[in-house]
Amino acid sequence: MTTGPASTLLDLRGLLLPELEGFVERLGEPRYRGRQVARWLYVRGAAAVDEMTDLPRAFRDRLAEGAKIGSLAVRRTQEAPDASATKFLVALEDGRTVECVRMRFADGRRSACISTQVGCAMGCAFCATGLGGFSRNLSPGEILGQFLLIRAHGRARLSNVVFMGMGEPLANYDATVRAVRILAAPYGMGIGMRHITVSTVGLAPQIRRLAGERLQMTLAVSLHAPADSLRDHLVPVNRRYPLAEVMAACREYIEATGRRLTFEYVLIDGVNDGADEARALGRLLAGARCHVNLIPLNPVDGIEYRRPPMARVRAFASAVRSAGLPVTVRIERGGEIQAACGQLRLAAGLGRPSRWTPAAQGAQGASPAGARSS
Ligand code: SAH
Ligand code: SF4
Repeated sequence: MTTGPASTLLDLRGLLLPELEGFVERLGEPRYRGRQVARWLYVRGAAAVDEMTDLPRAFRDRLAEGAKIGSLAVRRTQEAPDASATKFLVALEDGRTVECVRMRFADGRRSACISTQVGCAMGCAFCATGLGGFSRNLSPGEILGQFLLIRAHGRARLSNVVFMGMGEPLANYDATVRAVRILAAPYGMGIGMRHITVSTVGLAPQIRRLAGERLQMTLAVSLHAPADSLRDHLVPVNRRYPLAEVMAACREYIEATGRRLTFEYVLIDGVNDGADEARALGRLLAGARCHVNLIPLNPVDGIEYRRPPMARVRAFASAVRSAGLPVTVRIERGGEIQAACGQLRLAAGLGRPSRWTPAAQGAQGASPAGARSS
């Protein structure tokens, strides 16, 4: 497993059903109690063992002696001006903070954008998270806790989950894959695997490993440049895993899973948004079963890059399209907020600390029991 926060008690949130079943059996309970515990953890979102009121008191006491449910506390919330998103600043048990977002789409979909690390070690040149460096990996329970907290916040069902918050999910591989499995499990959150998207900076060995898991989720690969010379600069990890290697891993992934891959490309004014780059991107991806997602840059305080004018964005999109690739641009209402999901400390409509609203009553539990939204 991953390096989570130090604690002597096992965090139940983050265990797969067979592990919960094994755990309760070791406490002398029948196996079916494992399923009951899973239901409390993932369906009802219990914040403490004591909330599991249909379990015998003696069993709850024994459970609480060796295990706990990790707690996350909402420190601040922030609403997008157009109500298309709510951002949460969440304190972990060790006092470190991450951010996650509840997003609302015009077609009724509700999406949770969650973080996998405190900070990020990849240092992409345009990313606010990268600016602050890396602190630690999140545990599976901390990743799932964000989902539960977002779910408890609203009434409408969450249909999608995107791993596009702080951190590089595939640099915290085990915790990410575990969280994906529990999110999609019938005993877990019941989110359709196809409605889960993991975004990666392009760690080739981990993309290959993920291909072997044969998960039917969506993988999004952050390209941002069609050639190594430029990508080396924007995405420093490209020096370790250059484009040819990333693309080979992507082809392997598409082949193994039968899934269409998404390529993300942040457009930066005068840096990677020219006609030459658009044509090169078209050539690089031609024939691949993929979708291209263009994200006009959200400016970051302290980083000089700018967002290109819309005419340039449109020209880039149509040049890529003419190579036969499906292209979408994240620009409409709420677009800034969606993009901000990857650089959550930004000022892009959501990020200025002065505009945060303190959470009512200070700290809140991750998710009150029975608060499943639907
Ligand atoms: N580490 C992963 C996932 C988190 S970032 C990754 O890099 O893919 C999610 C997305 O937001 C990535 O495509 C990332 O490139 C993008 N992003 C980061 N900073 C941005 C910014 N300032 N403006 C727009 N998109 C940004
Ligand atoms: Fe890390 Fe992704 Fe930001 Fe790059 S874009 S620094 S990989 S969070």
